[in-house]
Amino acid sequence: MKIFETKQALQDFIDEHRSKNDLIGFVPTMGALHEGHLSLIEKSKEQSAVTVCSIFINPTQFNDPKDFEKYPKTINEDLQKLELAGCEAVFLPSVSEMYPDGMHQLPHYPLGRLEELWEGAHRPGHFQGVCVIVHRLLEAVRPDLLFMGSKDFQQVAVIRQLLAQYSFEPTIELISCETVREASGLAMSSRNVRLSPEQKIQALAIYHGFDTIQKAIKEQITCSTKELERQFAQQLLDAGFESVDYIAFADPKSLEPIIDLSQTFVVLVAAFIGGVRLIDNQLFPHELFKRV
Ligand code: AMP
Repeated sequence: MKIFETKQALQDFIDEHRSKNDLIGFVPTMGALHEGHLSLIEKSKEQSAVTVCSIFINPTQFNDPKDFEKYPKTINEDLQKLELAGCEAVFLPSVSEMYPDGMHQLPHYPLGRLEELWEGAHRPGHFQGVCVIVHRLLEAVRPDLLFMGSKDFQQVAVIRQLLAQYSFEPTIELISCETVREASGLAMSSRNVRLSPEQKIQALAIYHGFDTIQKAIKEQITCSTKELERQFAQQLLDAGFESVDYIAFADPKSLEPIIDLSQTFVVLVAAFIGGVRLIDNQLFPHELFKRV
């Protein structure tokens, strides 16, 4: 496995593979790798000749400086995991490599409603930071395939918009991959290491909340989305969450709130437990309810 710290060294490696017409798959991460990240590497390996993983804790996407300071760093373990997973190249840039002109006066990305809804509303500036770094990483790697987790559902929508608004050569196909969960149902996240064993059990209330919705719809309980949101939030608070940023029933494409439960929708959740902000989501496909 090759490790690169500069864009130039990475590009030389990529150019060599491009000249052989190798398909390049790319998995951007912030490290503290778990099975969720490794599932993206696996997907990339299935579909590409060369898989590049980046590890970069991007300062500009943290709207809370404490969250940035506390973000777990496990670089040696990460490299071992990537090597074992058969990743061909890792990009480990420094902050000055990615932000040579500093972190002020960065470009602005027109994200429209995606920046006003849910994560956008609760984490001001977050998606701007995500766009800046993903754009720069994509320019450095120039992949054919980009693998991202649907655990960060809104992030996938934001990057889809970025890919549609800016031209990349070659064109990049974004592949959204399923959320990997622990056996308990808890969505894997780098931030889970900050939870106590008890909090990890309490955090399962998110997963159970999705089940409750599924049941309510299958049993055709007449309930408004507002009422389901309220009940879900209460379940989280009862389980030990300190606060709930949002529970949203949304259209999977536009992410606009929906009221009609007979269409395909996604339930997006963000809530705090033990000072850790967890996000999760579940898609409820229309077909699921037609079979009832
Ligand atoms: P992060 O390191 O948290 O920025 O995540 C890097 C990539 O891994 C993103 O595309 C995430 O959506 C994805 N990811 C994070 N957690 C999971 C998970 N539990 N299952 C699948 N993909 C995930």
